[in-house]
Formats: sequence, C-alpha cells, structure tokens
Amino acid sequence: MGAGTLIIGAGVVGLGIGWKLAQAGEQVIILERGLAGREASWAAAGMLCPANEAHYQQDSNLELAQECMRLYPEFVQELEACSGMNVDYRTEGTLTVALNADDAAAVKVFFEYQLEKGLPVRWLSGDEAREMEPQLSNFVSAGISCPMDHQIDNRKMMEALKRAFLKAGGELHEQTEVTHVRCDGGKYRGVMAGEREWLSERLVLAAGSWSGLVSGIPEHARPPVRPVKGQMFSLRAPFPGFITRVIRAPDIYISPKSDGRIVFGATVEEMGFDAGLTAGGLYSLLKGAWETVPGTYDLPIDEMWSGFRPSSRDNTPLMGASRVEGLFIATGHHRHGILFAPATAIHMSRLILEGEPPQSLLPFDPSRFTV
Ligand SMILES: Cc1cc2nc3c(=O)[nH]c(=O)nc-3n(C[C@H](O)[C@H](O)[C@H](O)COP(=O)(O)OP(=O)(O)OC[C@H]3O[C@@H](n4cnc5c(N)ncnc54)[C@H](O)[C@@H]3O)c2cc1C
Repeated sequence: MGAGTLIIGAGVVGLGIGWKLAQAGEQVIILERGLAGREASWAAAGMLCPANEAHYQQDSNLELAQECMRLYPEFVQELEACSGMNVDYRTEGTLTVALNADDAAAVKVFFEYQLEKGLPVRWLSGDEAREMEPQLSNFVSAGISCPMDHQIDNRKMMEALKRAFLKAGGELHEQTEVTHVRCDGGKYRGVMAGEREWLSERLVLAAGSWSGLVSGIPEHARPPVRPVKGQMFSLRAPFPGFITRVIRAPDIYISPKSDGRIVFGATVEEMGFDAGLTAGGLYSLLKGAWETVPGTYDLPIDEMWSGFRPSSRDNTPLMGASRVEGLFIATGHHRHGILFAPATAIHMSRLILEGEPPQSLLPFDPSRFTV
C-alpha cells in the first residue's frame, strides 16, 4: 500500500494539512489511533484570541496568530462550503476583565503591552464592561475590549474538517495506531500499524502530545513535546444571549457557544498523561466562574472533561521538515492549535508540495532545539 503523503494523527493539525494536500490533488492517508478529532482538538474551547492571549516575549506566536486571523474568514467559508456544515465562527470580540485592584493593575500593564504591539484594543471602566455583558459581577472594576478576537465551535470544526478531507479524496483510517516509523540511511521509508506496513513518499508526524513517543524516529528528529493538561466544564445557558462573547478573567475564561453551551476553562497542569478530573482543578474553575459571572451559580452542569495540549520547550509550535528526508513535523501548538489551524494547514501543505518553507514557518523550525 503506497501513498504520496501519510499523516499520523487526525487532530486539527493532521486533518487540516491533509485537507489542503488532498485539495491540491495529493494522495493522502491519515492513520488515527482513536477517532478523528477526539483529543486536544475536541477538548479545546475554540477561542481565536491573538489580542487577549498575547504573551510577553512571544512575538513569533503573535505574528502567526495575527496572520491566522486574516486567514480565518476565508478558511471557514471554504471549510463550510466543502463540508456542508456550519462551524459557528463568531466575531463578537473578547473582553478581558479585572475583579479587584490587583487584577486591574496587572490588566493595565497588559493593555499597555497590547498597545505597544499595535493591537486594536480599548480600555473600559467596570460599568462599560457591564454594559457589554450585563451578567458580569459588580466587582468588575476595569476591562479591555479586543474586537479582533473571535471564536469557533472546535468540535463542529473537527467534524467539518473530517468531511472536507474525505470529500477532497483523502483516506482516513481510524482505530489504527502507528507503532513504528521506519527510517534508514537518513530517509523516511514507511510506518508500521500493528502487523501492517504502510509505505509513502512522505510522512507528517501530527500526533499531538504523543508525537515524541512514536518509536523509530531518530533522536535528533524526535519532537520534544509534552502533554500539558487542561480541565474544563460547560454549563447550559438559561436563555440565548446570557453571555454574548468570550470573557477572560484572572482565573477563568468563558466561551459561549451558539448551541447553548457555555464553556469554562482551563487549568494548566504538568501531570503527564493523567487525564483525571480533580476536585481542586474544578473548584478553581467553578470559583472563577462564579466570581466573574455570579449568575452561573444556579446553572446546570452540562459536561466536564480534560485534554492534553501538545507543548514544546518554548510552548511554540514545531513545524517544518525534519533532518530525516521525507519526514515532516507539525506539532507543539500548545494553547493555540485551533487558532493556528489555517496557517498550519496552508503553509505545511505548501512546504510539502513545493519543498521550500514559507516565510511564516521559519521561526517554528522543528530542529531548533537540536544541535
Ligand atoms: C483544555 C484545552 C483548551 C484549549 N483551548 C484552546 C483554544 O481555546 N484555542 C486554541 O486555539 N487552542 C486551544 N487548545 C489547544 C488546541 O486544542 C491544541 O493545540 C490542538 O488541538 C492540537 O492539535 P493536534 O492535532 O496537534 O493534537 P490532537 O488534537 O491531540 O490530535 C492528535 C491526534 O493524534 C493521534 N495519535 C497520537 N498518537 C498516534 C499514533 N501513534 N498513531 C495514530 N494516531 C495517533 C491522537 O489520537 C489524536 O487524535 C486547547 C487545548 C486544551 C487541552
């Protein structure tokens, strides 16, 4: 069995790249250990927040995020047209809020950083923030409006990516775990999934938090990713428009979806692959939710879950060709894999087809940690 490109992992990264490659006429096979789109890409909140989530000293991430926000409207339009599905892309912007004087001082410093980076943000008083979101606590003393930040329903997006990939002629094999990658003489040759060998000209390693665990990849090409656990929960909104946009408070973010779910997240924990929900993790989220939006107190719990962010040493993606001929790496998207989806799919597929890394990928060279 041979293919042009084989991809390990059907998360947002693998399916996005696979879709773009298949659209360009490439023969693509994705091997997925479980079900497509059911790991980190399913666990996410779907926030697309370059301004709200800008991090000090991570300029290359911010540039990629801003590029993605320019790409997103067309990416969604095409995805919806190809899949025949709506993915609940919403453009209301986000609100960052402070709940006490200490928070307000920190939020002010962050606001100045956003202005320095040229981000279109606006300072709000507590009352102005409450005018935008009447459910906010009376303790909210200040806020930042970030109109450039958007959100999507990542679970719908994963189903849409799967459908678009299949319609474009891609082949997806679920319940098929890659157990070994065969590389000889500095070249990629094929993979083993159980007893079966799969051959292809190229391989894309997009196995999320598990990308460093697949055997057979030479040490210098093995991506240094670790799982960073996030616990989340969702409540049912009591009426449409209860909360209308993403709200970020010091200990919580809140992401309302059009189907009536309100998603709250997330803890950031270094717990290896322990997926268990904990009283402490959920308590801190529930407390943050109640302090920010007191009306959440009486709402029914909808769901609780956890997921693993694939995170590199600098929490910045690893994307590009490895030093093994034919082996490409696409992982380490940490907290921003949904946000980075358009650039990941478009630039990685171009690199694979044309051989030259697009400018936007240069800061994310997967070999940057190896000498
Ligand atoms: C709680 C939480 C909240 C988040 N919120 C956001 C957010 O609001 N916005 C945002 O942009 N990002 C968010 N993220 C980050 C985002 O979800 C990830 O960066 C992104 O989903 C990573 O996608 P992926 O395809 O690399 O990994 P995954 O979605 O984990 O996919 C990897 C796939 O590879 C498969 N696999 C692994 N090993 C093998 C193997 N040996 N053989 C075959 N298949 C294999 C797995 O089964 C899995 O399906 C969040 C993450 C978490 C956990």
